Amino acid sequence: MTDHNQTLFDRARQVIPGGVNSPVRAFRAVGGTPRFVKRAQGAYFWDANDKRYIDYIGSWGPMILGHGHPAVLQAVQKAALDGFSFGAPTEREILLVEALIKLMPSMDMVRLVSSGTEAGMSALRLARGATGRSKIIKFEGCYHGHADALLVKAGSGLATFGNPTSAGVPPEVVQHTLVLEYNNITQLEEAFSLHGKELACVMIEPIAGNMNFVRASVPFMKRCRELCTQHGALLIFDEVMTGCRVALGSAQSVYAKSIPGFEPDVTVLGKVIGGGMPLAAFGGKRAVMEQLAPLGPVYQAGTLSGNPVATACGLATLQEISRPGFFDSLSSKTRSLVDGLTQAAQKAGVPFSADCEGGMFGFFLLPELPQNYAKVMTSDSPKFNKLFHGLLDRGVYIAPALYEAGFVSGSHTAQDIADTVTAAAEVFASL
Ligand SMILES: *Cc1c(COP(=O)(O)O)cnc(C)c1O
Repeated sequence: MTDHNQTLFDRARQVIPGGVNSPVRAFRAVGGTPRFVKRAQGAYFWDANDKRYIDYIGSWGPMILGHGHPAVLQAVQKAALDGFSFGAPTEREILLVEALIKLMPSMDMVRLVSSGTEAGMSALRLARGATGRSKIIKFEGCYHGHADALLVKAGSGLATFGNPTSAGVPPEVVQHTLVLEYNNITQLEEAFSLHGKELACVMIEPIAGNMNFVRASVPFMKRCRELCTQHGALLIFDEVMTGCRVALGSAQSVYAKSIPGFEPDVTVLGKVIGGGMPLAAFGGKRAVMEQLAPLGPVYQAGTLSGNPVATACGLATLQEISRPGFFDSLSSKTRSLVDGLTQAAQKAGVPFSADCEGGMFGFFLLPELPQNYAKVMTSDSPKFNKLFHGLLDRGVYIAPALYEAGFVSGSHTAQDIADTVTAAAEVFASL
């Protein structure tokens, strides 16, 4: 039988670098042939061989309702008939921004853009412009898109700044980026005592989904907030993944439950808020956001920003997930998946730990949940690859790398979860 995925992959590699338009899709970490998607509906997609998979990637987060939700589809179709793009403002942009501000009251104003990378890059420029400072703190294992200044790994010490993680990023461009260990309060305090007066911002994934699933501890987050306030640096929450995904009010609402009055200064959003269309955003307090052009000196712009079809898709998605009970149901589904996988692993004697919040989960082939990137990377990678391919063969599609989070949608049924746990139990037994 012809493997149509392989045929397409061979063709793709002739004309697209690595055959893909975003590296992790190429299956380099796990080996094998990427599945080319033909179509998707609800919790499933079908590959080029018409094989069905239960989808736990959901486009890496955006598809929180599942694929082809009727209300979203209708909104997109209606918007498309009215025009694809105008380069002039529309009412729908106001509606979407008003909806976001209602969900995240830490923001008074929001600017819409087209990708998480663009939003993160713009938020960083805004923080530097608003504070008049250059230095920034980010954490190892957090991903904020591929802007030059953020493609950095830790340098040799706290007084030295980071090294580029990509060719093509000159060292001078990352010389102001300090990379610290996630959840390490001592390092954070040292960095502020050394560089506090020059720091424009601390940028953080509150629940880091780009090193699988690692929560910032409450004491660590509290200290981030205190130190930023004390030193006049902005706390930027990169909620591109967690925004409207871990809770309707995003991760900031989760931390506000443990830290009274907690708010980030700037929030970066993407993924879910576009419902699968290219849409992202950044927002914050009025005084900060008014530094942006045309009001202020910080330049930022975009031909397709606030695109009318994308905003229709995002608005319809937000409306659906705001329905009473949606998040409770999503959270309990995700919880039942995580519990089921944990029990199956225990039964098979496989070291395993897992965590979830709302519709986002992560698991590790480690006996305890890791607290930072170095610990995440001690996970057993050959074993993960076996697990990945075992699940794939059984029609379950999880992220093709052990440092990526997973996502459950409103379309996943109890039966889908049960089938996934059954498949995992079989694979665990063979590990
Ligand atoms: C996905 C992601 C980004 C980048 O968003 P793109 O739309 O892929 O550019 C930035 N930050 C976080 C936390 C993300 O998960």
